[in-house]
Amino acid sequence: MTAVLEVEDLTVRFYTEEGVVTAVDGLSYRIEAGETFGVVGESGAGKSVAALSVLGLIDSPGRIEGGEVRFEGEDLLSMDESELRSVRGDEVGTVFQDARAALNPVYTVGEQIAETIEHHLGYPPSAARDRAIRLLDRVGIADAETRYSDYPHEFSGGMCQRAAIAMALSCDPELIVADEPTTALDVTVEARILDLLAELADEFDVAVQLVTHDLGVIAGTCDRAMVMYAGEAVETAPIEELYYDPKHPYTAGLMSAIPRVGDDDDRLPTIPGTMPDPIDPPPGCRFHPRCPFAEEACTRTDPALVDPETGEAATLDDDRAAACLEYTEGLSGGLDYSVEVAGGTGEHVEKTIDERDEGGPDE
Ligand code: SF4
Repeated sequence: MTAVLEVEDLTVRFYTEEGVVTAVDGLSYRIEAGETFGVVGESGAGKSVAALSVLGLIDSPGRIEGGEVRFEGEDLLSMDESELRSVRGDEVGTVFQDARAALNPVYTVGEQIAETIEHHLGYPPSAARDRAIRLLDRVGIADAETRYSDYPHEFSGGMCQRAAIAMALSCDPELIVADEPTTALDVTVEARILDLLAELADEFDVAVQLVTHDLGVIAGTCDRAMVMYAGEAVETAPIEELYYDPKHPYTAGLMSAIPRVGDDDDRLPTIPGTMPDPIDPPPGCRFHPRCPFAEEACTRTDPALVDPETGEAATLDDDRAAACLEYTEGLSGGLDYSVEVAGGTGEHVEKTIDERDEGGPDE
């Protein structure tokens, strides 16, 4: 397969009054043409900053300080603003969390989609209007011809998100970057929007970078996924392998926090502690203060992403990689978690972590 997007050693910092925040630190991943790639992690993991970097939307006080972002082989980081704007409109579509805010309130929804088509594809106005109506219809807006003339405030949240997807698809992009596209929606609407996104990605043969904090969301939607923690990738895997055989304790912890229908426990398992301060992350493995398997070595060495089978440094071409000392130096206690899977991906996945400790070692 051909990579539509390659991100290599990307580093993004924000210079704030409180100090320098390293939001993304040496991040590398690739997205193949037509695949849906999930990027998952808690708030503060750096996943949205990574997505904004791909779109060239990092503003002051943020700076991209290293690495490359190649879209179809072209380095986006060396493009000027007008070249970037053209890539963003023609070849990379975007869907953000707050679709209503992304739409201009003083133009009708249809006009905004048609204007994008006119500007980027050079359609005459009537053809752009027809294409916008067809797209609105395709994303499930009933009576699309009439609703073309509605303003964003006349659309529900779910309809705004459908319109945003129509806008993202309007210029036949190669990639859609969808940043938490369903977080603001209720769960039934969320499920329908995710199904729609998956269906259209397939139909339009477009790659999707789906950013979410919810591992459950990517289960039925993505082909592969990358788990991020404190600005770094900690695991990358095809989705089935991620669910059935997670190699990183953080991934396993996220799995155990997925709610399941019929679960009669009073409380959901959680990962103890919180994401570290990005201005002053802990030394060694950034996950060590929260990791039930942490050992002394974890406080000293920041593990690199490696092939968990061989311990060799992961490359952009590797589908499977994890950043834990277990796969290089070895841990004296090993990674002792059990995996129970009920159903398949997209259904209910049950995992339990046999927590040996309440948390990591004292610092
Ligand atoms: S075992 Fe150590 S290296 Fe592996 S995730 Fe836990 S703290 Fe990090």
